[in-house]
Amino acid sequence: MHLRSVTLKGFKSFPFRTKLEFGPGISVIVGPNGSGKSNITDAVLWALGEQSPLAVRGQTMRDVLFAGGPGVPSAPVAEVEVVLDNSDGRLGSDFSEIAILRRLDRSGEGEYRINGARCRLVDVLEVLSDTGLGKEMHSVVSQGKVEQIVLSRPRDRRRVIEEAAGLGKHRKRRHRAQLKLERTRANLERLLDVEREAR
Ligand code: ATP
Repeated sequence: MHLRSVTLKGFKSFPFRTKLEFGPGISVIVGPNGSGKSNITDAVLWALGEQSPLAVRGQTMRDVLFAGGPGVPSAPVAEVEVVLDNSDGRLGSDFSEIAILRRLDRSGEGEYRINGARCRLVDVLEVLSDTGLGKEMHSVVSQGKVEQIVLSRPRDRRRVIEEAAGLGKHRKRRHRAQLKLERTRANLERLLDVEREAR
């Protein structure tokens, strides 16, 4: 599995449709300060479901929309598509390539698509959950993050390593199962009350 391409439109400093293609192995993006290199990694994080504006260096999520520049009006919609090569089947899908698209407009309306089909955020996270990619997976290490990890408390560092090893997914599933169990328990209590009253 590797990142095949990233296509941005209306996202941060990319008002026009811009496609970057990557091969297997190491790719390097070079450019002057402020030319938009980090905006590209922000775009990857964002398309893969990032929910925190801070994580993509904004105050609100609408900050990802191109704000306008000399002679170029602001963008009504931000759109990023990340295409992952799945020829080795690691994404647990029969498709040889998985295209994940996220869109957001100025009213705050957004959508996700996997291979063109509209889906929920949870579906995107599910596709990525076995890959070590996506939110909290530490596959994108931003400037300053290495220092933060080295200087963090052992317990926090352990959490980072657990997330990178894919344990976070199981923690989340356990949490969801616990919530479901609590809801079922509450329903059962209610039913028993009704039964007691009916006697
Ligand atoms: P450095 O090498 O200094 O880290 P960089 O190449 O990583 O720089 P970025 O941080 O990706 O640069 O890009 C910063 C540029 O993106 C700034 O010029 C900023 O004005 C522009 N930018 C950020 N958000 C938006 C937005 N919503 N609309 C338009 N431009 C934006």
